Formats: sequence, C-alpha cells, structure tokens
Amino acid sequence: MTDAPTQAAPVLRAEHLQKTYDEGTGRVDVLRDISLTVHAREMLAIIGASGSGKSTLLHVLGLLDQPDQGRLWVAGQAADGLSERQRSRLRNQSLGFVYQFHHLLPEFTALDNVAMPLIVRRMRRAAARQQARQLLDQVGLSQRATHFPGQLSGGERQRVALARSLVTQPACVLADEPTGNLDRHTADAMFTLLRRVNQDLGTAFIIVTHDPALAALAHRQLEMQAGRLQAAGC
Ligand code: ADP
Ligand code: MG
Repeated sequence: MTDAPTQAAPVLRAEHLQKTYDEGTGRVDVLRDISLTVHAREMLAIIGASGSGKSTLLHVLGLLDQPDQGRLWVAGQAADGLSERQRSRLRNQSLGFVYQFHHLLPEFTALDNVAMPLIVRRMRRAAARQQARQLLDQVGLSQRATHFPGQLSGGERQRVALARSLVTQPACVLADEPTGNLDRHTADAMFTLLRRVNQDLGTAFIIVTHDPALAALAHRQLEMQAGRLQAAGC
C-alpha cells in the first residue's frame, strides 16, 4: 500500500530505546538503538526472526515493560518519569493489545469479554454491553455475542480479542503475532479485517508477524535484526 498517512500527529514515538537482559546465562542486548515514529491511522508491520526482540519491543512501546535507556511518547505524552499508576492510565486510555493466544475469559460470553475493559473502568454494564455489541458487529460477530470462547473457532476468538482491544477506542493497537496460531485462510481473513478496522475506525496498528505476505498489507514494514529496526525487504 502506498497511501501511508504521514501528516497526522504521531500516536507513538520512541527515541534511542535500549534494553539488555542479563540473567546469569549471558547478556542479551535485545534493543540496541530503536527510534520509531508511528503516525495516527498508520498500519505498521514488524517482522524478524524468532528471538530478535519483537515482543520485547512491543512490551516497551506498550508501557508493559521499561527500557534501560531512551525516551518514549504515547499519544503525545512523555512516558518516562511516570508512576506505575500513571503509566497504567496512559496505557488504558491510548493503547489496545492483541496477542497470539486470545486470552479471553472462558467463563464469560463473547459480548462480556469485549465489554470487560469498559466494566473494569466502572462503566455501567448495560452501556458497556451496548458499546461491545457495536464492536462485535465491526468484526462480523454479532451472531456470536452469547457464545462462550470454547464455542468459537480460533479465528472467531481472535476477532473477539480484536473487538475487545478496540472497545476503549485506543489510538493504537499493538498486536503480537495475532495470526500466528491460525491457518493460512483464517490468517488472511484476520489481516484483511485488521486493515478494514484501520481504515474504518482510524486506529493505528503495530503488528508483529512472521508472515511477509501479511506484513506486505500494512502501510510500512520494518524488520528487527540484531536489536535494530530497519526497512524490511519484503
Ligand atoms: P521475539 O518476540 O522476536 O521472538 P523476544 O522479544 O521474545 O523475541 O526475545 C528476544 C530475546 O530476549 C531472546 O533472546 C529472549 O530469550 C530474550 N528474553 C526475552 N525476555 C526475557 C526475559 N524476561 N529475561 C531474559 N531474557 C529474555
Ligand atoms: Mg515474540
């Protein structure tokens, strides 16, 4: 795709991020010097070999983990120097997450799983369910609202997880191999859906994927290699 939005204000900006794991078994410089700007409405794919630091980078960008060095801005707000509580608030207000395994709560229906982030925010249950219903509709699952995760296919569960990540209207969704557990056909459908949500709702996406064909559907492709991000050759 060539129509990458570059004019809008960044939803995420990182400068010179560094992170090292040192756990007795040897030092691993996972993030060496990562600088990155993700614009509003942009869809960015990150590829890279297993162990190249993709998940670590997403965790740092998503305020789930701290870099050893470097600066980060989320939705225009500087993330360094914030208390844990302020970091949580910034994360909850501005970011959504989708993982390789859906992490849905098995004892709740699809609708209540999607409504959960709003209920946690103390929204009234009826209002939360109403918004959740709209998101289930967006991902084409209004007919599955009362199903439990165990009654859904793998692709349907990932779509519920996507709806849940979107229900708080985040500026940016961080997705870590969201199609990694799906077959080819279902993975294609999921990626097409991600792109449609990106266009319809204007949500920015950072998507880690093993699959260069799927990555090619994003506006921009970067590759993690030896702790650095570079333009991907896919
Ligand atoms: P990817 O997602 O690209 O597969 P990760 O970010 O999960 O890569 O891991 C990058 C490297 O950092 C790997 O060598 C991994 O073993 C190491 N690593 C990840 N998390 C930890 C941790 N909590 N403690 C020590 N090493 C870790
Ligand atoms: Mg990973």
